[in-house]
Amino acid sequence: MKNKVVIITGVPGVGSTTLTKKAIEKLEKEGIHYEVVNFGTVMFEVAKSENLVEDRDQLRKLDPDTQKRIQKMAARKIAQMAMEKPIIVDTHSTVRTPKGYLAGLPKWVLEELKPNIIVLVETTGDEILMRRLGDNSRRRDLETTGSIEEHQFMNRCAAMTYGVLTGATVKIIKNRDNLLDEAVEELVSVLK
Ligand code: AMP
Ligand code: MG
Repeated sequence: MKNKVVIITGVPGVGSTTLTKKAIEKLEKEGIHYEVVNFGTVMFEVAKSENLVEDRDQLRKLDPDTQKRIQKMAARKIAQMAMEKPIIVDTHSTVRTPKGYLAGLPKWVLEELKPNIIVLVETTGDEILMRRLGDNSRRRDLETTGSIEEHQFMNRCAAMTYGVLTGATVKIIKNRDNLLDEAVEELVSVLK
């Protein structure tokens, strides 16, 4: 039997990985266990083994058909993990590629994962821009606030279609500057 699957999404730099980590730590203390799987990491491992990329930020620059092939392989691997325990999948509602927005959860991925809840982590374009500028660990794309806001709008549209296709609920959580604890509390209550 498949366990609960929660999908956490947000534009790069919004802090969805940090938020997830904090929520999981809190839940562990209450005896609620989730396995966190990073979709990008699973894709990166596949792509690296085929010598297609050297770092994870090169994935979204690959030709879209290659991205989709790797995406499908990753979805299958992650679905197998959901047979063992409840999982949180840290991923993206859409991926901004040079050829346009790519759905992070096209129907063949949804069919594998069968998500129960889809979370969108958001904040303002300005805050995201500043967070990206402060992060030297990644090769974040330099974008204007307008472009970041467009990406968040596309993420909302895509997430709701995933909800329509699967019956998953779609939850928007704001991760505002200096209010991380509020976002953590909200995510914890969604995951309970
Ligand atoms: P992240 O570390 O979450 O920014 O993910 C790294 C990269 O993995 C992203 O820039 C995408 O290229 C890729 N990726 C993550 N999730 C998905 C997905 N659901 N569909 C396609 N590509 C993805
Ligand atoms: Mg992340």
